[in-house]
Amino acid sequence: MEAFIHVDQFNFIKRQVLDIVNAHVTSNDKGVVHTFISLAVERVDALFPEMIAEQKQLLTPIPLIDDKEKAEKFFADIKPYVIPFHVTEQGIKKLFPKVKKLKVPELEKLDLQEICYLSWIDYSMNKKFIITRSNGKLVGVHGTFDPIKQKGICAICNGHEEVGLFLTEKKGQVLGTYTKKGNYICRDSDVCNQNITAIEHLHDFVSRLKA
Ligand SMILES: [Zn+2]
Repeated sequence: MEAFIHVDQFNFIKRQVLDIVNAHVTSNDKGVVHTFISLAVERVDALFPEMIAEQKQLLTPIPLIDDKEKAEKFFADIKPYVIPFHVTEQGIKKLFPKVKKLKVPELEKLDLQEICYLSWIDYSMNKKFIITRSNGKLVGVHGTFDPIKQKGICAICNGHEEVGLFLTEKKGQVLGTYTKKGNYICRDSDVCNQNITAIEHLHDFVSRLKA
């Protein structure tokens, strides 16, 4: 069977399963636990409207998971079917032809099955780079990043995390003018990537910057 679970869907499944585990821990009421289970199964099924028998089979253990250990085992069992973020060093360089001395992260050190978007900060030029994949194509943006002192809502994952203001700059219609666009996003892109349970906010964020 081919990989069929997107990284955000993997995160979504994890969250649903952990909700079930949590219901087992916190509730003595079997009815309540059962409700959590049916909701979780329904939501996961809704992710994959055209599941084939083998895919269905892979996800059947969900209602039986009642502790953290079983949950971790299940996550490990389904991970081979998670579609990795596909990117190459060459592909990244092509996205930023004007950036001199681009420092591309060491891709072999990353777990590409945990990444919805790739991001790093180049402190020497005080720039944050973001790479996403939209309709099969890589899209890259870079901008300044200024962390703020309090926590805030991230525009990409919608989590309440340590965030900063990401701003891109574009030349305006009139010579010498610039327009800036941006939003608050997570400071730590690993945390952000794990929070993403629906990819749409990431695509919205990037397409607004590109517009
Ligand atoms: Zn985030």
